[in-house]
Amino acid sequence: MPSNRLRYAKDSPAATAWHILRDLSIQDFPIDPKQIAAELGIVLWERELPDTCDGCLMQVGNAWGILVNAKIRSEARRKFTIAHEIGHYLLERDSTRSCSLDEQLNAMIAEQEDDTENQKAQKQTYLLSEQRANQFAVELLMPSPIFLADSSSLSQVGLPAIATLATQYGTSLTSTGIHYTRLSDLVCAIVFSDAGIIRYFAYSDGFRENKNCYLQSGQPLHPDALASRFSNETRVSEVMDDVPLNYWCQPKNRRMNGSHPTVEKHRIFEHSRRIPSTNQVITFLHLPC
Ligand SMILES: [Zn+2]
Repeated sequence: MPSNRLRYAKDSPAATAWHILRDLSIQDFPIDPKQIAAELGIVLWERELPDTCDGCLMQVGNAWGILVNAKIRSEARRKFTIAHEIGHYLLERDSTRSCSLDEQLNAMIAEQEDDTENQKAQKQTYLLSEQRANQFAVELLMPSPIFLADSSSLSQVGLPAIATLATQYGTSLTSTGIHYTRLSDLVCAIVFSDAGIIRYFAYSDGFRENKNCYLQSGQPLHPDALASRFSNETRVSEVMDDVPLNYWCQPKNRRMNGSHPTVEKHRIFEHSRRIPSTNQVITFLHLPC
C-alpha cells in the first residue's frame, strides 16, 4: 500500500474527521455519529423533508441542530447523513446554509444553461462544500488507516470483502464499495447501474493510470456484460466471470469514438450483484496484472 494514499493536509476533511475521533477517544466500530453529535452539543431531530434533502445543519441562536429527513429508511444512509452534516459543522459552520437554500442550489445545478459568472461561482462553492462534507463523513465512519488494515487482513477481495466491511462499519454497500475501491492497490473499479445505464463509478489509482481503462457514466451497459442480465432475468441476483475488457472499458484514446471497440484481446473479471433495496446493480471490475 503506497504511503501517499494516507497523506492528507492538516485541515483536510479526512484529518478533521480523524482528529475528532481521537479527541473524543472513539475507537469502537461501527462509529455512532449520533453519539458524536451529542458530544459536540448538536441536537438531532427528524422531520419529513423533500426527497432532494437528506438532512441539514441549522443554527438557532447559539444552538446547533441537525435535521434529518424522516423518510430515510436505511440506517446506514441516516448515519451517513448525520456524519455529513457534522462535517459541515466542523469544516464551515461560519457559512451555514439552510435546507431551502440547498434546494434552490440543486435546482440551479439542474439548469445548466444561462449561468452568470456569479451563479457559476456559487455552484462551484456549493459542490466543493458538499464534496468536503462527504469526504469527512467517509473518513469519520471508515477512517482510512483502520479501514485499509481491515481490508488487507481479509482473504477475499471485491464484493465479498466490501459486504464484510459494510457490516463491520455499519455503512452502505455503496459508500463502502467506493471507499474500498479508491484505496485499493488492485487495478479495479466499482460501477453502479440501473435500468441498463451506468450511473456512476469509482476506481483505484491503478485503474485510472491504465491506458485501456476508460469508463463513462450515462452510457448504456454493453448488452453482453453480465450486469445486463439483471434487466431480463429477475431471479438472478449475482453473476461473475471473465469478460472481454471492451464490454466495460474503452481505451482512453478511443473515448471520443462513442462506440465499443472490437478489440477483445484483454479480459477483465466482472462480479455483478443486484442491490434489492435500490434495484441498482453493483459491479466490481478487476483487471488481473
Ligand atoms: Zn451537504
